[in-house]
This record gives sequence, structure tokens and C-alpha cells, in this order.
Amino acid sequence: MMKRAISISLIALLQSVGPAAIANDDPLLRPIAPDYAKRWLAPEKPGRLFGNSYHVGFGGLSVGLIRTSAGLILIDGAVPQAVGDIEANIRALGFSIRDVKLILSTEPHYDHAGGIAALARDSGATVVASAYAAKSLESGVIDAADPQAADLIAIPAIPHIRIARPGVPIRLGDVSVMPVATPGHTMGSMSWRWSSCEGRTCRNIVFAASLNAISSDGYRFSDPANRVQLKAVQSSIAAMRALPCDMIMTSHPEPELKGACRGYADMAAGRLNARLRKEAGQ
Ligand SMILES: [Zn+2]
Repeated sequence: MMKRAISISLIALLQSVGPAAIANDDPLLRPIAPDYAKRWLAPEKPGRLFGNSYHVGFGGLSVGLIRTSAGLILIDGAVPQAVGDIEANIRALGFSIRDVKLILSTEPHYDHAGGIAALARDSGATVVASAYAAKSLESGVIDAADPQAADLIAIPAIPHIRIARPGVPIRLGDVSVMPVATPGHTMGSMSWRWSSCEGRTCRNIVFAASLNAISSDGYRFSDPANRVQLKAVQSSIAAMRALPCDMIMTSHPEPELKGACRGYADMAAGRLNARLRKEAGQ
């Protein structure tokens, strides 16, 4: 009886000053599109993918983690309201958010970058992205050339971005991560490739940015004015197919995916072709 009374008063206390109330007072944790984002945030048990590589994200939204000899590398930051769960997932693996030294960003859309400002503040980590994406990440402002520009929501601005150049590795301790430019879904999209070993067995792992040719209503990838975006998606699909790649984490998990980067490239090519057929009215 006593125990029950204590837990009821605890619940009442949590409800009055609990996580929701605190989150609402913190501008970096203010939820973005909460009803829409809910379907991405299905809880997922954090765990090891291979060697020093882990996943700390959700059923519909990936967040990657690499352990190095000099701290942790986090990949992507989901939406602001997911930050508490990401940090809890990192703790559940025996690490701390304070161990995160680098945060790599695949694209500046709110579902992958909305939580990065809070994660960077909480960890003190340096955020790394392509030069093109850095403009949106540092300002929080949406790129007018983005195919989804009309539907996007601004994200909390990230004060300073370290620019990653394609082919120039990002190093932390004993790990070297190769930035792979995969523009098209956004013109600044970047995928990330590294090697993880278990004993003498090593695997090339890729955290792949979205390659989906999707847009706001009225935008056509087949419009000559959008040729740059279409070419970018096509060359990014080809680049994905050619990568040394034994294992893949896609920025949104793809339950239908078979194989690693080649399978992902096939999937993206199929979606692009379906899209172009639809635009052509077939
Ligand atoms: Zn996106």
C-alpha cells in the first residue's frame, strides 16, 4: 500500500515537472512534427552491428555510433524530441554522451538533423557535414533548391560545422571515416564509410544517406530546370553501387533491403524509375 502511494506521488511529480515539461522549455528539444515523427521513433534496442560499430536509433530512423580509441563518433541526430532516447541508448551500451567527439550528418532535413544541435551541446562534439549541407545546418534555414523545400520545417541551428570533403578521411583515434558525396535527395547529402574489425575479420560499413527522389507537390525531377538534381540522384546511385561495402545502415531502415550498398542502389534506382514514369504520365 505504502509502496503504491509512493509510486503514485512520483508519477504525479513526473507529470508536473517531468521530461515533457523540461523538453518544452528547451528550445533545442522542442518537438518537430511530433505526430508525423512518431512513426519513425518506434523504440529499438540499441546494439552492436559489427566490431566497434553500433546502432542507437529507432525503428524508422537510424542513428549510428562508432567507438574509437579517442572517443565516439555519432552519425545523425534524428528529431529534437528523440535526443533523450538517443542519449539513453548510448548509456545503455556503457558509454556516455560526453564521450561523443564527432557528429556526422547525412542531410539537413529535420528528421536526421533536428536533434543534432542538442546532441552537440550535450556532448561538446564537433559536427561534420558537406559544404553544401553546412549552409542549412548553420542557419537552420531550408535550402530553396531542395526538392522538398515547400514541406520542410526549420531545425535548431548548429553554431559551427566542420566541412567534410569527399574522399578526404575524417579521423578520430584509430578510426578513419570516408565521406562519400551522395547528393540528390538533398544537394548536400553525404554518406559515410569506415572499416570495423572483429579479430582479423574486417568489414566495410556504410551509413547511407537517403537516395530517394521525393519532392513537394508540383516539383518534377524530369523538368529541365531540375536537371542538376536528377543527375545528382543518378550519379549518387551509381556511387553507392560501386562502394566497397559489406554492411549498410540506411538513414531510414529499409526492411525490404536485400544485400548491402548494391541492394540499396537497386532499390533507389527502382524508386527513381517509378517516379520518372509517373511524371511522364505512364
Ligand atoms: Zn530527407
